[in-house]
Amino acid sequence: MSHPARHSAVHTIVNRAAPKPPELRDDLHELYGKNVFDLAQMREHLPERAYRALESCIERGTELEPELADLVANAMKEWALERGATHFTHWFQPMTGLTAEKHDSFLAIEDGRMLLEFSGKQLVKGEPDASSFPSGGLRATFEARGYTAWDPTSPAFIRETAMGATLCIPTAFCSWTGDALDKKTPLLRSCEALNKAALRMLKVLGDEKTEYVYPTVGAEQEYFLIDREFYLQRPDLIATGRTLFGAQPPKGQQLEDHYFGSISPRVLAYMHEVERELWKLGVPVKTRHNEVAPSQFEIAPIFERTTVSTDHNMLTMEVLRQVAQRHGFQCLLHEKPFAGVNGSGKHNNWSMSTSGGENLLEPGHTPDENMRFIVFLTATIRAVDLHAELLRMTIATAGNDHRLGANEAPPAIISIYLGEQLSAVVDALITGEPRGSKGGESGTMKLGVSTLPPLPRDATDRNRTSPFAFTGNKFEFRAVGSSQSISQPNTVLNTIVAESLRIIADEIEAKVAAGTSREQAVQQTVQGVLQKHQRVIFNGNGYSSEWHEEAAKRGLPNLPTAVDAIGQFSTEETVAMFERHAVLSKRECDSRTNVMFEAYAKAISIEAQSAITLASSALLPAAFRFQRELAESIEAARRVGAKSLARQEKRLQDLAARIDQALGALETLEQAYEAAESHADSAEGHARTCRNTVVPASLALREACDSLETLVDNDLWPLPKYEEMLFIH
Ligand code: ADP
Ligand code: MG
Repeated sequence: MSHPARHSAVHTIVNRAAPKPPELRDDLHELYGKNVFDLAQMREHLPERAYRALESCIERGTELEPELADLVANAMKEWALERGATHFTHWFQPMTGLTAEKHDSFLAIEDGRMLLEFSGKQLVKGEPDASSFPSGGLRATFEARGYTAWDPTSPAFIRETAMGATLCIPTAFCSWTGDALDKKTPLLRSCEALNKAALRMLKVLGDEKTEYVYPTVGAEQEYFLIDREFYLQRPDLIATGRTLFGAQPPKGQQLEDHYFGSISPRVLAYMHEVERELWKLGVPVKTRHNEVAPSQFEIAPIFERTTVSTDHNMLTMEVLRQVAQRHGFQCLLHEKPFAGVNGSGKHNNWSMSTSGGENLLEPGHTPDENMRFIVFLTATIRAVDLHAELLRMTIATAGNDHRLGANEAPPAIISIYLGEQLSAVVDALITGEPRGSKGGESGTMKLGVSTLPPLPRDATDRNRTSPFAFTGNKFEFRAVGSSQSISQPNTVLNTIVAESLRIIADEIEAKVAAGTSREQAVQQTVQGVLQKHQRVIFNGNGYSSEWHEEAAKRGLPNLPTAVDAIGQFSTEETVAMFERHAVLSKRECDSRTNVMFEAYAKAISIEAQSAITLASSALLPAAFRFQRELAESIEAARRVGAKSLARQEKRLQDLAARIDQALGALETLEQAYEAAESHADSAEGHARTCRNTVVPASLALREACDSLETLVDNDLWPLPKYEEMLFIH
């Protein structure tokens, strides 16, 4: 027997109908990309000339002529109508980190007659009422309008719901002054910056055939699933996405029996539907498995062009959430929904590809390929070392603070894992001496002459404690939070690598101009750069306390909380770099800094309000009720002449002491919250005060209430407990 509401939740869950086996009648070939206006659809629906022009827009980012836009819009409309769409929307990614849309129908009236219309103008440009999206001060309310512009590099798609179908057009979102108001615009600009810098580097290395370069990303997504019955009884989960209270369950993840364990039929049915929905949208999700924590799972796609995989990750999160409800689940994307249980991240696998489809981080087979690999690797190492603080900034959210450095996720110190063999190669390049026996080859490494030994790619060799690991032919940025958009991490990654490529190309060119051979110039430059930046390479255990000491000795920055990191967005050097590569202006950097501080403070304030309400209106009342029961039962025992009541009285006193502690903590939190609100006029000041006073006060209240949970009569406790949420479905 438990609290009536909790009891009925368990009852409902236990009596849920078994999941229906999925319908496998339709052909996967037909399903995949069914709802995407992709190149194949364009070819079918467009005149040859328009198709060619559009293809070039997509591949090279050239602009679309207005008359072609009309043709494309018309083809898109016909295609969408055939699939039952009645409305269209410009789908965009405001700085909230979510997606937004405003629906318009195709309906038009002319001379009293109804027409279905969709013009090139409507396709290319939209005007959402944008005044309620954060702009970080970029847009005074009198000029509150912004506009959305079609991004042809990301295909339009149809979203089906039970309530009808909508044609979604991926767009960038800008103010009338041309400032980016979204997460997509800077990402697109950073891809262009990387394209330019990488192309130039390839030319320096003698590659004349590559036409363009683009970054690629595959984002592995972790999430929790709990039964929706429990979710609806947790106001903290509803308001903040994480549990603000909850004592540790007797069985946590100590047994590690969940990781890669078999997936329950109910969860499997859910995953299956998620995959089908995503396949229809052309999202190439491929793998699924249990994660470390109980009720934690992962879904991973095949990598794509960064702009597309970023959209696709947003869609993945949306579909994970929506399909969960149909299966009686709630999908939790928060970085730390449960204290004491592993958090969720998003592993951002990143690399660069040439127009010819060659991966620039693939260790090559020939001396030329080897040289190219080493140069792009060196540029990335330099970028991550020099801009570690900026990279740290890209993952700075209130949610991720619970996860980074919590002995289950990479520390907030940014370092690079290369693995033993590649590290030996780097050492050899620095010292100019032969690689050790581990390198598998004797002789010095001469760029342009030597080849690399095959590098192992098995998972065991991988360091899971590193925030930035080389995994065979790509880097895996593992510190990204599970709920965040991957736009910003990739915008920064692309830009800092572009900057490094620029500096390194300058140096090689200068040496060549002074008469050094190309091979020699590359060799010397790489040697110098690696020497300077090798401190960022670390192959050991990133969770250990020794690493924190060692990192400090090496002078690597450690920004433990989001508030420490956010300001890195608008330092002088950062702004200069973003401006040099035309990714972000100073105004845009400043506004984004503001938005991030605001988002942090808002998250902490909502958590504080939610904790205060829950503690005072639900948890403490349960404790008071139990106190009365206990007092009454001691009184009753005394009345019948029971003698040894000392233990019972001690328990009552213990309870009273814990209640008192909780009341004290509640008062402190209320005061801290009020005081922090008085700083709300400055985003940074507000965030700082929240971090310094509200966060510790919330934690103290949680500890006091969790200790009550372990004492108070189970029947009286109003919130579903950890063991129920994590183990019953
Ligand atoms: P593992 O983590 O076991 O190495 P995978 O090889 O499946 O797993 O890769 C993990 C993710 O990395 C997948 O999403 C995969 O598509 C992506 N990935 C692989 N190669 C690249 C690449 N060149 N660029 C970006 N992402 C990549
Ligand atoms: Mg991984």
